[in-house]
Amino acid sequence: MRVLITGGAGFIGSHLAEAHLNKGDEVYVIDDLSTGFLDNIAGLQKEKRFKDRFFVTVDSILNHEKMLELVGICDQVYHLAAAVGVLYVLAHPFESIRTNIQGTEKVLELCNKFKKRVLITSSSEVYGKHLHAPLVETDNVIYGPSTKFRWSYAASKLMDEFMALAYHRTNGLDVVIARLFNTVGPRQTGAYGMVIPRFVGQALEGKALTVYGDGKQTRTFTYVKDVVDALMGLMASPDATGQVFNVGGTEEISIESLARKIIAMTGSDSTIEYIPYDVAFAKDFEDMRRRVPSIQKIKDCIGFEPKTDLNGILENVIKFMSERKGTIYR
Ligand code: UDP
Repeated sequence: MRVLITGGAGFIGSHLAEAHLNKGDEVYVIDDLSTGFLDNIAGLQKEKRFKDRFFVTVDSILNHEKMLELVGICDQVYHLAAAVGVLYVLAHPFESIRTNIQGTEKVLELCNKFKKRVLITSSSEVYGKHLHAPLVETDNVIYGPSTKFRWSYAASKLMDEFMALAYHRTNGLDVVIARLFNTVGPRQTGAYGMVIPRFVGQALEGKALTVYGDGKQTRTFTYVKDVVDALMGLMASPDATGQVFNVGGTEEISIESLARKIIAMTGSDSTIEYIPYDVAFAKDFEDMRRRVPSIQKIKDCIGFEPKTDLNGILENVIKFMSERKGTIYR
């Protein structure tokens, strides 16, 4: 099997590439390194056993000729290339919208042309600011005004879903959509706002953990290897075609409790510093108070359930970041 992974030098993409290589597949990656790093895949590039079946292209998914070639030679496409992280989206509003909308359109257009199966990664952001839990795939979406740029990310990912579903309905495109909730694990960088690598990095350096707002907002976290299992399961399941699935964890925790847990698990002397949102993000920001998925649909379709709990996730991230002092991951 030949697999194309857009955004394959990113955090999730690099783990997905590794899993397909371990399965014996031929893997093609395209990444413009906007938020991905060659370091994420350097280990895979050095492995002798992957030598003749791992190919990396540093380029934009908006490069038509390159994408024509790559989609043409591969059997399946995972589309992960996107603007990620609240900090990145707020700092690069135009590029983020462009990458998310035009990039996905390009992938869908070419997968339709060559009749290739494609998995589109969407985001739990599409739900917007709900207070109820769990979030079910058929729930309404609730966004703030267009003057608050955080919602541009949600709206662009929602548009990706509409485009994918439209291609499925009108052209019979073989597509499946995964709405990823907060995904964490080794190789995730805290540079774009992701809370777990930020807190672990701060705790390891003995700095105060920066809790935004009152810290009572909650999240669930999914280990990246569980997410990879879910993506591969959805890709392999014909029953999943033309549908949207939540991919997430079930252990809800407040950000304040998460900070305390990380301080305890690292044995750090760090304290907690509460930072008002307008100081952390300047403007255009609205946080989500709660974000918990229902995973019933994916469980019924492919039997997916996360295997690694929050303690296991944190142990792995702490170990990884302790071993890589002063690198991009801190
Ligand atoms: N957060 C925080 N301190 C940080 C980074 C993030 O308190 O240094 C909070 C953020 O406001 C949000 C939660 O942690 O409520 C998760 O943030 P992240 O950026 O990881 O993902 P999000 O769920 O916002 O997409």
